[in-house]
Amino acid sequence: MKKFKLIAICLCCAVIFGGCVEKREEAKEMLSKSSEEDLHEMTTFAMDTVMQFSIYNENGEQLLTDAEQEIRRLERLFSVTMEGSEITKLNNQAGLGPVSLSEDTLKILNRGREIGDLTNYAFNITISPVVKAWGFTTDEEKHVPSQETLDSLLPLTNPKDLVINEGASTAELLKKGMAVDLGGIAKGYTSDAVTALLKEEGVTSGWFSLGGNVSVIGKKPDGEKWKVAIESPLDANDSVGILEVEDCAVITSGGYQRYFEENGKRYHHIINSNTGYPADKGLISVTIISKDGTKADGLSTALFVMGLDDATNLWRNSNDFEAVFVTADGKVIATEGAADFFTFDGTDNDFIYETIKR
Ligand code: ADP
Ligand code: MG
Repeated sequence: MKKFKLIAICLCCAVIFGGCVEKREEAKEMLSKSSEEDLHEMTTFAMDTVMQFSIYNENGEQLLTDAEQEIRRLERLFSVTMEGSEITKLNNQAGLGPVSLSEDTLKILNRGREIGDLTNYAFNITISPVVKAWGFTTDEEKHVPSQETLDSLLPLTNPKDLVINEGASTAELLKKGMAVDLGGIAKGYTSDAVTALLKEEGVTSGWFSLGGNVSVIGKKPDGEKWKVAIESPLDANDSVGILEVEDCAVITSGGYQRYFEENGKRYHHIINSNTGYPADKGLISVTIISKDGTKADGLSTALFVMGLDDATNLWRNSNDFEAVFVTADGKVIATEGAADFFTFDGTDNDFIYETIKR
């Protein structure tokens, strides 16, 4: 089971900030009795990961049931392992013609395509044949595939060979052996859907974590921003710092959680589709903060593949996300906008803190 890469810190900031117990007590008192009664929590397992919810609303119990149903509905569409999912149908039909798809599946494929275009295909939703060759997303044992295998599979990972026809509500993979893998974007898309559902139903305060992908709604009931810790890639019990945020998604990708070792070398699950090998551009984690959870998820994967220089250029040309990078050479680097609400705390692991300007 996947460990949390981000820890949403609600009322337990004393764990991180040893000196703020008093402040916490004050804040706690400020919580009106009614908001404490309105707190509803849930933990569930879906999309192959643990999901946690904590929302404030008098109908919270019902709303969490609705949220869980929405997640399972999307999982049944997007799963690559569930027989009968729309993505499985699309993949089984590769090279054989178009498949009719529901609105959500067409939408997520379009979002995947759009993030691919934006990142020069560092984000590639048709990377699946190569990801599977490494034994990721299959029951097979993970292993380094031969160069011959990679050479035969890479031509099946051209995202332009995924044809989306919105008018006809269909999509088609043009070559036999192609496959779509939404692993890099599905949780972000789901977080947007769940946020929309909860907000529509009147939730104004809460947070949830889909396997470490954190979304926060509004502020805490005491009016403070939510505190979200970015896990240290070097130590799951430590963080490199805390983000204080409201109404956004905070999503991290890294090579330090899902990986295997062969002949003393570590191989992780985020693949550079130019080489077919795990991305190796000097980053060990990328955290994206954005109101658009789908984009945050796609970009966290893409910027990890691109490396710091290209990632910085993309950020400079965008205005809808901020980022915190952790580099293999021991730096924690926040974009200018992220630095405004990020408190660095990575000295335990000897990280050095820097910021990048527009
Ligand atoms: P996680 O799902 O572990 O939180 P990511 O969001 O970074 O991490 O997604 C990684 C998953 O995305 C992989 O398991 C794989 O299914 C898929 N993937 C791997 N490389 C790429 C890539 N270059 N573009 C798009 N998806 C990818
Ligand atoms: Mg991602």
